[in-house]
This record gives sequence, C-alpha cells and structure tokens, in this order.
Amino acid sequence: MLSIINNFIAGEYVEGSRGNLFDKFSPIDGSLVCKVHESSRDDIDAAVAAARRGQAEWAAMAPAQRAAVLHRVADGIDRRAEDFVAAECRDTGKPHSLASHLDIPRGAANFRIFADLVGNVPTESFMTSTPGRDGALNYAVRVPKGVVGVISPWNLPFLLMTWKVGPALACGNAVIVKPSEETPTTTTMLGEVMNEAGVPKGVFNVVHGFGPDSAGEFLTTHPGVDAITFTGETRTGAAIMKACADGIRDVSFELGGKNPAIVFADCDIDKAIDGTVRSVFSNCGQVCLATERVYVERPIFEEFVARLAERAKALRIGIPSDDATAMGPLISKEHQAKVLGYYELAVQEGANVVCGGGIPQIGEAYREGSWVEPTIWTGVDHSHRIMREEVFGPCCAIMPFDSEEEVIALANDTEYGLACSIWTENLSRGHRVAARIDCGLTWVNCWFLRDLRTPFGGSKMSGIGREGGVHSLEFYTELRNVCVQL
Ligand code: NAD
Repeated sequence: MLSIINNFIAGEYVEGSRGNLFDKFSPIDGSLVCKVHESSRDDIDAAVAAARRGQAEWAAMAPAQRAAVLHRVADGIDRRAEDFVAAECRDTGKPHSLASHLDIPRGAANFRIFADLVGNVPTESFMTSTPGRDGALNYAVRVPKGVVGVISPWNLPFLLMTWKVGPALACGNAVIVKPSEETPTTTTMLGEVMNEAGVPKGVFNVVHGFGPDSAGEFLTTHPGVDAITFTGETRTGAAIMKACADGIRDVSFELGGKNPAIVFADCDIDKAIDGTVRSVFSNCGQVCLATERVYVERPIFEEFVARLAERAKALRIGIPSDDATAMGPLISKEHQAKVLGYYELAVQEGANVVCGGGIPQIGEAYREGSWVEPTIWTGVDHSHRIMREEVFGPCCAIMPFDSEEEVIALANDTEYGLACSIWTENLSRGHRVAARIDCGLTWVNCWFLRDLRTPFGGSKMSGIGREGGVHSLEFYTELRNVCVQL
C-alpha cells in the first residue's frame, strides 16, 4: 500500500515540486492514512506538456488499437481488483461489499463500454445539390478535444473518475486527473495499470492537491487544457466555470442534488421500502443520486415511516472489512461536522426526529472516526432548510401528500434537478409523473439501476451537459465538417 502519494506524469511517479505534503486521515479511526504531494503550477505545466505529447501519439493510433489497449486497462483493474477495493475502503471507509460490487467493477466497465462504443457511432453526411452548379459531398468527422482536465470528488472516487477518463481516452484525448484530496489513492494506482496496458506515456496523468490556489485552480486556468469535466458540489462548479471562461474552455458538470422519492399509496410497499433504504443510506448517503426528500401518499404515510425507521435502526454500522457492515463512516471529520450541523438544525427548525440524529458508538478504537447515525425526520415542510439544502449524509425527511399535482409541485420545488424515484404499481401514472419531474434521471420502481449507454446528468443547478453512451462522445470530441465538390 502507498504511504506517500506522488503525482503521475508522463508515465512516471514523481514528487510534487512545491515541497508540500498534506495528510490524508482515515474516516474509520482518524489515523494517518498517507501523505500526498501537493502540486505546484510547475507540476501542472509538466503534466500539460506530457499530455500534449502523449495525446498526439495516442490520437494517431487506429481507434481499434486504442480500444484494445483500453480493454487491457479494464483487465488490469480486474486483476488487481482486491488492491483497488482495499485502497478505496481505506480512503473512504465504505464497506468492502460496496466497493467490490460497485465501485471497482464499474471502474473496469467504464473502460470497456466506451472502448466498444467509439467505433460504432456513425457521423452524418449530406449530398448537397445547388441548381446550375456541381454537387458536393459534405461529411462530418470526429476529432479528439485534445487535453482534458478531469476533476473528481471523493464519494465514488474510482467509479466517477473512470466514468470520465474511459470515454475521454477512447475518443483519443489525453487526460490530467485531479482526484479529491480526500481520496488520492486509487486514481494514482491506475497509473501502473495504464503503463502495463501499454497506454503511451503522458496520455494519463494525475496531479494532487486542493481547489483554490492549488492543483484544481492551476488546471482549470491552464491555457494548454482544452476542456474540463467536473463532478462535485454546485458551488465548486460555479468557481470552475468562471475559471474556464477566459480561455473559452468547454465544460461538463455533474453537480449536487436534493433528490425526491415519490411513494404512491398504490406502490408495492415492500419494494418501495427496500428501494428507499438503499437510496437514502447507501454509501452513508454520500451519493449524488441519493434520496433526501421522501413524499408519501397519506393513506400509507404512518406505515411507511414506521417501517423505514425500523430498517434504518437495524442497519449495521461498522468497519469496511466486516461482512455484516451495511454503512460505514462519512468521509472526514469536516464532513461529519457539516452533517451533524444539519442534524442540529433540523431539531432547531422543529422537525420530529423519528430515529438517529447523533453519533453511534462503534467502539473505543473507532472513537476518532467520522460516524453518524442514519436519521429520519417528519414534521417538515419546504420552509425547512433540510428540505432545500443538500446534506450528503445518511438522512431523509418524509412529508405526506394528497394528490399527484401536489407532489409534482413539491418534487420540483428545488433549485436542483438531478434524480427522482417514483414508486407506483400504476404504470400510466409512473410515465405521466416522470415526464413532469424537472430532473436528468427518473427511476420508476427502482433506484440506481444504470445502463451506461443512457444520458446521465442534471438539470437546473445539478449540472451542465450529459455524459454516458454517445453523449460522452459529444463532449470528448469535436465534430468537423468536410465539404468536397464533386
Ligand atoms: P467538491 O466540489 O468539494 O470537490 C470536488 C473536486 O473539486 C475535488 O477534487 C476538489 O479538490 C476540487 N475543487 C474544489 N474547489 C475547486 C476549485 N476552485 N477549482 C478546481 N477544483 C476544485 O465536491 P466533493 O465534496 O468532493 O463531492 C461531493 C459533491 O459532489 C456533492 O455535492 C455531490 O452531490 C456531488 N456529486 C455529484 C455527482 C453527479 O454525478 N451529479 C456525483 C458525485 C458527487
């Protein structure tokens, strides 16, 4: 396991030239996990220069050859899956079962799917005829954007980073990744896999650091970077957009959410409870798609609240390696303080705490970890901040509703627009309501059921653009038109 984390530039692990190493602490027990080199502007210059060289070589390879290399990257991740799972759990505290079933296999899948997709996307062509003149053939070709900056968050670090790196490389770009300062390890480990798979030096680079006056800012303002793809908080997205404005650099943003679940009285209540337990508490609630607002139709409100609370109280909170663990800690002490702040605020604002609201006792050895209890509130309305602001913790507030019109208005009464889940056995209603929710992704009778070919992204303050399937290719390539007179 790495205890000092270096940058990865031009196929080599290199120390940061700033001479500053920052600490990464364990969310499980507060111990020091590793020290990480913070990048200077010079390091970003070096990464950009390496990426420009690497990109020219990579783009000159036949797409089928690039696809074969990316399949080897996916195979390399699979071969080292246990190491990746261990490192991801060490950085995040998430259960092994989650990292081994979701985060790391999805990382490998992100390379395979886009490697296979790029060769199969047609481009348009037109036969142009102008009376009295020779005709022309117009066709479009896709070219890589060039050097893409990838800025990723800590909640699903490997999954969300590869979700961008996979398509960017498949399209012939080079990337410079700045992973979250909270989760530096798995992105750095991927460098070795890239080298083994035969990715040319400089095509995949990793720089470490923070946002302002650090690697994030240096990358987003660098004139040698052609586009920025970012996943993280809405407020950070706004700062990055400003940073990219002077260079007219293209951006793709996957941002925050305050996602509703709508539970109609005609739902299969067992399924709705199972789905809502997952959508609220998975990954300790630190999923952009997580449900934080639950609207339940009045005839089943009491039953739903009681049953959800029973399930929340039964969730086993523990360390990653324990097979029985359903929920780990939050990412950091800082995030714990933020989530506990919302727990206090909810009480001050008059919410009824159905369960949780505090810090669970995990054991003396884990006292310094960032643990919080799964928490449910009722007695809220949209004047409460916990119904409006993203908490990003294992909690939800539940409100009753009486009609379809009312619940559609409630679900849409938010500045965010990422995801929604609807629970009903009346499929006509499922389609009808889904069409009226202002968000990028609506699930009916499920949650986090993903097909990587579908468009993914948020409306309103939850993002700009769509990635996934051909939509990723739209962002990671430019279309050029060629006109040939016949
Ligand atoms: P964050 O915005 O704090 O940080 C994300 C990344 O941006 C980190 O690498 C950070 O170092 C970097 N950064 C911070 N300030 C920067 C700046 N000024 N310039 C350049 N880079 C900067 O987000 P987080 O706390 O890591 O992640 C949680 C947030 O991400 C939540 O809001 C969540 O909803 C959102 N998220 C969204 C999606 C999605 O697909 N929509 C997925 C996962 C997480």
